[in-house]
This record gives sequence, structure tokens and C-alpha cells, in this order.
Amino acid sequence: MTPEQFRQHGHEVVDWIADYWSRIESFPVRSQVSPGEVRAALPPAAPERGEPVSAILADLDRVVLPGLTHWQHPGFFGYFPANTSGPSVLGDLVSAGLGVQGMSWVTSPAATELEQHVMDWFADLLGLPAAFRSTGAGGGVIQDSSSGANLVALLAALHRASRGGTVRHGVEPDRATVYVSAETHSSMEKAVRIAGLGSDAVRIVEVDENLAMRPEALAARLERDVARGYTPVLVCATVGTTSTTAVDPLAQLGPICQRYGVWLHVDAAYAGVSAVVPELRPLQDGVEWADSYTTDAHKWLLTGFDATLFWVADRAALTGALGILPEYLRNAVTDAGTVVDYRDWQIELGRRFRALKLWFVVRWYGAEGLRAHIRGHVALAQELAAWAEADERFDVVMPHPLSLVCLRPRWADGVDADVATMTLLERLDDGGQVFLTHTTVNGSAVLRVAIGSPATTRAHVERLWALLRENHDWLATDFAA
Ligand code: PLP
Repeated sequence: MTPEQFRQHGHEVVDWIADYWSRIESFPVRSQVSPGEVRAALPPAAPERGEPVSAILADLDRVVLPGLTHWQHPGFFGYFPANTSGPSVLGDLVSAGLGVQGMSWVTSPAATELEQHVMDWFADLLGLPAAFRSTGAGGGVIQDSSSGANLVALLAALHRASRGGTVRHGVEPDRATVYVSAETHSSMEKAVRIAGLGSDAVRIVEVDENLAMRPEALAARLERDVARGYTPVLVCATVGTTSTTAVDPLAQLGPICQRYGVWLHVDAAYAGVSAVVPELRPLQDGVEWADSYTTDAHKWLLTGFDATLFWVADRAALTGALGILPEYLRNAVTDAGTVVDYRDWQIELGRRFRALKLWFVVRWYGAEGLRAHIRGHVALAQELAAWAEADERFDVVMPHPLSLVCLRPRWADGVDADVATMTLLERLDDGGQVFLTHTTVNGSAVLRVAIGSPATTRAHVERLWALLRENHDWLATDFAA
């Protein structure tokens, strides 16, 4: 493809994306295809001859779109959101067009320095501790996912706990312990497995009635483990748990971690970005105790996947765990130690120029635009919660400090509540106007409404609320019959 052909077809593709966004509400939110249907629409073998872009675009409409669940649909209320936006796509397009690989400073200095700079901007925007700035002992880096960030945090913590011993001797699977709660994201346990510790190393700390980790339970477990000769390595505290957005109390957990010399990792994958709004920062009081922190701009901050913002207070622990310098990567500035080589901050060697999309996003919206985005969703969620609290058909379950509201429908005595709730969920999702997911709280099913799609307005939340009530009434009658 010549640059001129790229220019022409690039315009067509951008038009196609803009048209998709304009007509997104005409699609059912959840894909309605059956397993295997997408593949059955594709030719069995790769094309022998090249095809025109028009044929590829036609197949996007014919094959791909029906097989999508439309995460940017304003009726998407499932899981946590996966935002994208015009400036994010444009930044990613530039990154793809430049095609540089930023594994080391020398392989594209701008890729490293823009990332350092943007990460410092975001540390400021989120009110994170000074220790996380690149100007101090720490620094920020964009990871592929919070799952990846949880893993590198653990590797850094193991490095610190072993005083560097893991690099030569590996981990001590029978001694090292890691502290989570039952609400911690599953990626932390996966990280424990990948690190070679095995799930016996995981200590599940008790939670309170709001599903937040109990500091005194953590302290008791640490004390007992230390007395029995274990080496506590990492505590994973969550700000905004996946199930219900419970918030572990950092201000109380922090001093306990410090007392036992344990690495405090804060997983704020979804909720962390809310700190762009100053009045929401108290949720993260105590964040200055954190040794590392992760939040996903690709969930709720208008930036397309993958854009995990990860900071450490002491970058030497991270680079000590992950740094490696084969001869073929040696160069004068690396040898002189005057630059950051981000390959030493992550699992992979190669890395895309991901800072560009964040830079486009923050420059297009400005801090005030980011704040308006978060504030708007939080306000809508609070409204929905108020409507549900005032309605005899629903209970609002658990605190809802941000934009996730968990609703438990009420059913008549004798009705199996979980079956009825899951039937309600299926009816709503089958209807195509909205898409919700569920979780369980204290053993029973609840509906999760995560408000976070950039296109969602008050009218969409009102529509969801109407559908919830209508379908509840219909099912209540049906179950009574
Ligand atoms: N941590 C928490 C608290 C999450 O809610 C999630 C996903 O929802 C993750 C980690 C994993 O995020 P990612 O998809 O970026 O790996």
C-alpha cells in the first residue's frame, strides 16, 4: 500500500468508524450470534490474491459487526466499561503509523520520555504521592493490563523481600505469603501462580459488612505468619473491587504493612481514575502508604485498551526484578545509567508507543474534560441508586461511591430469588437495548449496573430503569402464575 493509497483508504476507514459510532444505537448491545457463526461466515483458507479495502469493509459490516457486543453502546452497563474515544483512536493510529518500538530509551527516545512525562502528569491529576513521580525514587509506566501490573508488582515485592535473592535463587514457595481478600481480583492469584508460589501462599483476609478488608484481621494474619516463620511479601489492597466497588481502607492497612515490612500494592484498576475528581479522592486516603498502584485508563478514562497506569514508589525494586541486559541491547546511554529503559519495567521486551493515545486524550479533553466525564457517570449512578432505593421492587446492595450500582430485585415469598433475578437479567440482555452483568453478594445474585460508556446520558439510564421495572413486573406476574 503506497502512502497515497493509505491516505485514501485511511479516510474510508475513519469514515467507517465515525459511521459506526453514529449508528451504534441501532445494534443490539449484546451480540446475538451463536458459537461458530462468525467463523462459518469466513472462507476456510486465506485469500491467495490481495483484496480491495472496500471488500474488507464490507465484511466488517457483514461478518464482524453482528459478532460484536458493543462496548461503546450507551446502553452498555456490563462488567466495567472499556472506554475509547476519538482522540484515543487517533493517538493509537499515529502510534501504529509510526511503528516504533520503545523497548529502550535509545530505540526511540520520545517514546520513553513522553511516557515518563505523561505518567507524571497523571500522577498529579490523580493526586498520587510525590514518591511516584519520575523525579523521585519511583516512576510510572504503562502496562498492558492491571493483571500484568499485579504480576510485576508481585515480582518487585518478591525481589525486595528476598533482598534480590529471587534473581539468583528463585522464590521460596514454602515461605512467601501474599495477602488478599475474597474480593480481590482473580488476577492476583494468577500472578501468585505465575510467580511460582502456588495458591497455598495466598492468605485470604476477612472483610467487613461492606466487603472491605479488615485491618485487624490483616494484622493478626501477618503476626501469626511471621511467628510461624513465613515471609509476608505483598498485601494487595483494592480500591473499587470488581464485584461491588468496595474500598479497602488504605490509611489503616498502610501502617500495618509498614510495621511488617510488606509491600502494599493498590489495585485500583477501575476506580483509581476517579481521583481526577478532587471530591472523590478521599476514597483513596492513605494512598501515600502504597509501594505500587495500578489503574486502567482503558476502563473509565476515555482511552482505548491497553492503557494501564502503573506506578512504583521505588523503581529499583522493579528494575532489580525485571532488568536484564544482553549484549545485543547494550548502548552508551544505558551503560551510563542516565536513561530509563522501559523494557526493565515490564514482562515483555518490545513495547508500543502507548503514551501517544493518553497524550492525545488528555490534551483533547483537558483535566476539566476528564473530570466532567467521571462526575457525569457518578451523578447518574447516584440518581439510579436513589430511584431504586425509593422503589419497593429493588434493594440497593452495598455502598455505591462511584458509578457501579448493585441491585437486588425483590420477589414474592416462595419464588427462587436467584432464578428470578437471573431470568430478569437474561430478558434485559436479550432485549438488545441494554446490557448488564451480575455478581453474587453474600451468596445471592444481584444485578450490576456499571455506568461508564462515554455515550451514556441520563436518558439511557432512565430507559434502563424503565426496563428494569417493566421486566420485573412482567416476571413477578409470571412467577406468581
Ligand atoms: N483488578 C480489578 C480490581 C479489576 O476490576 C480488574 C478488571 O475488572 C482487573 C484487576 C483486571 O484488569 P485488566 O483487564 O486490566 O487486566
